[in-house]
Amino acid sequence: MTHNESSEATNGQVSEQSKLLRQLPAVDKILDSKDLEHLYSDVQRSVVSLAAAEVLGDARTSILAGDNSLIFVEEEGEKRLNEDALIDAVVRGVEKMSSPSMRRVVNATGVIIHTNFGRSVLAEEAVFAVAAAASGYSNLEYDVDRGRRWKRWKHVAASLASLCGAEDAVVVNNNAAAVLLCLNELAAGKEVIVSRGELVEIGGSFRMPDVMAASGAILREVGATNKTRLSDYERAITDKTALILKVHTSNYRIVGFSEETSVKELSALCQKFNLPLMVDLGSGLIGGQDSLRMPDGIKMDEPLVPDTLRDGADIVAFSGDKLLGASQAGIVVGKRNLVERTASNQMARALRIDKLSLAALDATLKLYTKWPTRAHEHIPTLAMLTMSVNEMSIRAEEIRTRLGSLLGSDFEVDVEPGVSKAGGGTLPLLELPTVLVSVSSPKVSADAIEKALRLAPTPVIARIAEDKVLLDPRTLLDGDLDALVDAFRSVTTNGNE
Ligand SMILES: *Cc1c(COP(=O)(O)O)cnc(C)c1O
Repeated sequence: MTHNESSEATNGQVSEQSKLLRQLPAVDKILDSKDLEHLYSDVQRSVVSLAAAEVLGDARTSILAGDNSLIFVEEEGEKRLNEDALIDAVVRGVEKMSSPSMRRVVNATGVIIHTNFGRSVLAEEAVFAVAAAASGYSNLEYDVDRGRRWKRWKHVAASLASLCGAEDAVVVNNNAAAVLLCLNELAAGKEVIVSRGELVEIGGSFRMPDVMAASGAILREVGATNKTRLSDYERAITDKTALILKVHTSNYRIVGFSEETSVKELSALCQKFNLPLMVDLGSGLIGGQDSLRMPDGIKMDEPLVPDTLRDGADIVAFSGDKLLGASQAGIVVGKRNLVERTASNQMARALRIDKLSLAALDATLKLYTKWPTRAHEHIPTLAMLTMSVNEMSIRAEEIRTRLGSLLGSDFEVDVEPGVSKAGGGTLPLLELPTVLVSVSSPKVSADAIEKALRLAPTPVIARIAEDKVLLDPRTLLDGDLDALVDAFRSVTTNGNE
């Protein structure tokens, strides 16, 4: 093809596209359509206008991408605008804009603490507590016994202190806020010594150097990425040093030729120089391997909050919605004078926890207090973490049976061994053995199946590997199996088109 021929073809395409673009109506013309009149009794014209503008924008994008099948109908060789389709799209857009955007999804990925899907699922008791706090007044900041004002975090301070073996506790909006607050209170304008191997980035938004800068503390990095010795810390201590910070490398581990300094060693060093030792633990596991009754052979490589305090940390910060299995919260436990200073910092008000999260945290902590060795049976995050392969196998077979009879001979439904992950930047190396259900078809690609599941009325999020869709029963909750089966109905109808 010569240069001229190819540019003619492009020109032809361009004129065809601009012809089609010119047929698109103006927003006002759509708004005046008789078929949209019924909407105006329920929603404002501006809402319909936004929906119409979006539909027209999408239509333009499709035309420019060379796909006009949904917007135009072919009539005697001419393309005529499909006005009904446009109006339908606007009605759907208005419906979407007037219903909640956040909705339930089925997490079939097997990643237990998935930040995109809301991290921890709350225990039933916590759900009731949230509903009660949301639907009526509460003693949020009121001491009913004495008839006077109170601090909201006092509802959980005693439980946290006793569960963690700490003198006191305070709770804020999330762990990022907890770290920011502690550093601002204890180290603003002064130096904080951190190992280079611990300057973590979590979920792309929590970068320790940035949090440090925002707090007004000055970062003093020591050691190399893979090795930081006690002597590295000791050499960095000057009269500008405010504290030593140890950060749990939540979402990665440096394995092989590496060396990190323990909380015990750092605590001894801090005592010698009269400095506080702070630990950002991230996940905040309270109960250990034994109380969780992990399946045989599964080792959890995650420090516990009580152990970290016992080893000599003066102040420890962790999340409420990771391995603790509660709501979004940032928990600070440790020495009373440090906790009290942190709680009375000016920024504490801006970073405070909301009442619904606090109600959930309170109820979850009471489960740990009431059933020290059985909390994991009630807290979904821990229940999923400790589920046995045998249980996985039973659930996988049930899914296989139901999908097998629904999908018919065009699809192959199987079970195969696999691994689930803790997620949320916790236990990065832990591979939890699971039994996956795999779905594949010679007629429908795995990508198409995955997309149909995702676009179902209750979206199902699945993994893909080797052109098979993989479903992990570990993260399925009550009611999810029916939603999953429903979602697969749209796979079969799409596939038959
Ligand atoms: C997750 C994590 C954070 C951030 O906690 P959020 O509760 O998400 O704000 C901070 N530090 C560490 C070490 C973490 O693992």
